[in-house]
Amino acid sequence: MRIDLHTHSRVSDGTDTPTGLVVKAAAAGLDVIALTDHDTFAGVPEALEAAKRVGLRVVGGAEISTQLDGYPVHLLAYGCDPHHRRLNAELARIRSARSERLPRMCALLTELGLPVTLAQVQESAGAAAALGRPHVADTLVRLGYVKNRSEAFDRYLDDDGPAFVRRYAPELSETIDLVHAAGGVAVIAHPWGRRGAEVLTAQRLEALRRDHRLDGIEVDHEDHDAAARSLLFELGARLGLVRTGASDYHGLGKPGHELGCNLTRPSAFADLLAKIRQRGGHP
Ligand code: AMP
Ligand code: ZN
Ligand code: FE
Ligand code: FE
Repeated sequence: MRIDLHTHSRVSDGTDTPTGLVVKAAAAGLDVIALTDHDTFAGVPEALEAAKRVGLRVVGGAEISTQLDGYPVHLLAYGCDPHHRRLNAELARIRSARSERLPRMCALLTELGLPVTLAQVQESAGAAAALGRPHVADTLVRLGYVKNRSEAFDRYLDDDGPAFVRRYAPELSETIDLVHAAGGVAVIAHPWGRRGAEVLTAQRLEALRRDHRLDGIEVDHEDHDAAARSLLFELGARLGLVRTGASDYHGLGKPGHELGCNLTRPSAFADLLAKIRQRGGHP
């Protein structure tokens, strides 16, 4: 069984429609994918519908933007009730914060000599429910200022870049509790990507497991080198965390993250489904 539990569609900052993503996943020989768009479940119904037709299993999810000590942490939520009131209110708040920062980013880019308007960014985003920096990047590409998303991030949009603007994100621990309240399971995405290892230390992960019943960590991810993967695999085993692997596929938006480039072991997937059932969620 080939299982990829972290993918994005055009409903956030991927470049495939949910249907297109499902068709590509089946063609890539995958048996299971989770659709985990940023801060929204909006693409899940379409993906489930397409999955029925191509004989693939889709797990509904989202990648929620949270923070720990001001450091951004992405939390994968699987199996939640997509209509849970408090969770939806929180996701709506995050999406508003995503949109509200865009005019400021446009102003900064314009000051830097790259005139860009909110309307142009919205045009790049199309019908996306969650707007983000990748849509700003796409606009800079479209206007001929940079070659691709990567160059846009390297030169302007990265967290320490000149056009970066912070946005609201809920606390990681509170978001784990919220995911559980909605019947889902919580898995920290790429915990040791970027500066993550400094923030999500073994002690921190242990405390999140003990005090908030964190369910799992993503181990096999392109942001982790071989050493990080083997350390996280051992640590996760010691803490009783489900250890997943996934592509973090974004279509054309993120080279090197092809569907199925990292996989979740069937036994880990079975553990995750069992936990979702225990919480009364939607596996
Ligand atoms: P935002 O959600 O607006 O904070 O933007 C972060 C998103 O940008 C994440 O989903 C990343 O996948 C994406 N991203 C970050 N760095 C890069 C990069 N260098 N190239 C392409 N996408 C990136
Ligand atoms: Zn993304
Ligand atoms: Fe992420
Ligand atoms: Fe992601």
